[in-house]
Amino acid sequence: MSDVKAARPVWKPAGKVHASEQPFQYPLEREFVEPDWRRLPGYKDVTAAEWEAALWQRRHTVKNLKELQAVFGPLLPASLLESMERDIKERATMSILIPPQMLNTMDEKDLWNDPVRRYMLPAFDDRNPDWPSHPKSSRDSLHESDMWAVEGLTHRYPTKVLAEMLSTCPQYCGHCTRMDLVGNDVPQVVKLRFQLPQKDRYEQMLDYLRKTPSVRDVVVSGGDIANMPITQLEPFVSALMDIPNIKDIRLATRSLEGFRTTGQKSARARSRFGAAHACEQRTPGYSPGRESNQENSGNRISRRSQSGCAAARRQHQRERASGVMLHAARSRQNHAVLLLYV
Ligand code: SF4
Repeated sequence: MSDVKAARPVWKPAGKVHASEQPFQYPLEREFVEPDWRRLPGYKDVTAAEWEAALWQRRHTVKNLKELQAVFGPLLPASLLESMERDIKERATMSILIPPQMLNTMDEKDLWNDPVRRYMLPAFDDRNPDWPSHPKSSRDSLHESDMWAVEGLTHRYPTKVLAEMLSTCPQYCGHCTRMDLVGNDVPQVVKLRFQLPQKDRYEQMLDYLRKTPSVRDVVVSGGDIANMPITQLEPFVSALMDIPNIKDIRLATRSLEGFRTTGQKSARARSRFGAAHACEQRTPGYSPGRESNQENSGNRISRRSQSGCAAARRQHQRERASGVMLHAARSRQNHAVLLLYV
């Protein structure tokens, strides 16, 4: 025993590790509100009703540099435009797709240095000439498709899986780690394509999960599930909930519009998966502002507690629309269904 004790390594402080500085100064210097879109030349005549309509946002999503120029007009420096054009031809791994609300977060007075512009619309001159992409990045840098148990279902860890349901998003990010699969082909990357018909693919995923009791946590992702019709998402998530070993289901989206983009269908989605939204605010231990599902993993809401809270639900939806970042729903059979804005 004493030999074991002597051989056991002893933890010592590294000496160099320290907490990073808090980058934000609180309270914030300015109000945390959506900037007025009408300051941008392309949106100067857009009404509030249009701006707030998900379908208007979808229809006016920018898909190329010409449309980008129409939004920013003279605020878009010619040097930046030229550099982005070169990047598309020689470096970019994602095509352009960026919704108006995201463009509206950019600092139109300094687009060269704006962080959202840099990650959504990379320019050739933004990149390090020696390693224009991260030196370790590759087509499938996280090896997700290498670990597909069946097409689209990554099983890397014993208890959790990632279901890549579709290969499109409402926006394309320049840094996307799923650039191998997601989005349109670009000069540098001919994208991987799912081979199986979608219905068969989803069925194979469910079959695998039925046969694999070690899995309890499913991340339902893409691309982005905001692009998945609720008529496909609903049966898939319902089937997951019928698998006894699946306890946690996370619906992942980066789209700030999320289910609102599906119009009337969203009501059905909410009634199916999100009926507990408002009640969550009354549930001890739940905080809609917390971004980690771990922090909310103890949240359990009974069906009875979901009734009679329509007003609170509407309030919650308003809060969500105005920036609540995590939205959790409790469904039947002790499952946790979380809608994550990532
Ligand atoms: S939303 Fe996610 S999957 Fe889609 S392009 Fe951006 S990083 Fe990639």
